[in-house]
Amino acid sequence: MGRLTPSFTGEVAIVTGAGSGIGRSTASALAASGACVHGFDLHFPDDECGVRFHEVDVSNRESVRKAIAEVVEEEGKLDHLVQAAGIVRDRALWKLEPEEWSSVLDVNLSGAFWMLQEAARLMRGAGGGSIVHVASINGMRGKFGQANYAASKAGLIGLTRAAARELGPKGIRVNAVAPGMIETAMTAALPEAVRAKAVAETSLGRLGGPEQVSSAILFLLSDAAAHITGEIIRVDGGQMS
Ligand code: NAP
Repeated sequence: MGRLTPSFTGEVAIVTGAGSGIGRSTASALAASGACVHGFDLHFPDDECGVRFHEVDVSNRESVRKAIAEVVEEEGKLDHLVQAAGIVRDRALWKLEPEEWSSVLDVNLSGAFWMLQEAARLMRGAGGGSIVHVASINGMRGKFGQANYAASKAGLIGLTRAAARELGPKGIRVNAVAPGMIETAMTAALPEAVRAKAVAETSLGRLGGPEQVSSAILFLLSDAAAHITGEIIRVDGGQMS
């Protein structure tokens, strides 16, 4: 079956976490669909796939402001924002170190807020835009060893819904995808038993790939989703159903 391929010709997008996994797949799919794509990440990948990279730590508000100002100076506008930067620091909550708690909240939630706030200011001025956050099913259901991560992703879901209400009147849509376990660098090092448990939880009997998440993201960004905002779409092969 074919992939939905909306056109983003002439549109400007920023993708955080664009150096790897879901963010990389999204950035290259947007570029292939005609968008001018700026990738924000800690490191640049070897193959930039038509994406203009900026070295950005999303948890650092000044780093975010500087990079977004560069994009606006170069492009004069921002149409789309995808927030895929994220980290895990898994450990049972009674053993979790303060740094493991705060770094995950700083990147996954506060980082998303700094980006959203800057993008919202630009998009409000322009009278429209679309934003997609990459949450997780573990922010909806919780998972052993992920108190920090689940809290950050639950917060991101709340942020998505609040932003959709605040920004909808200005023509800005804000949605999220909530992936189940996806084959990326983030999950590559997990013990086989953990991966097998995730596969057993799915209805489709397999883990997803980054391109299955990025196609849902492109749908939400596109005009095909023009009446969808404040929505959280699970992309999990039925892992949470
Ligand atoms: P990934 O391959 O590790 O990609 C995450 C990217 O974010 C990496 O390039 C990473 O850079 C970057 N990043 C980390 N901290 C950053 C920071 N402070 N500023 C800017 N960039 C930063 O992981 P992924 O699986 O594609 O995850 C993408 C998103 O999907 C994350 O938000 C994750 O929580 C979410 N998600 C993933 C899964 C899954 O099973 N894979 C499931 C549900 C949700 P470095 O590599 O240099 O650290």
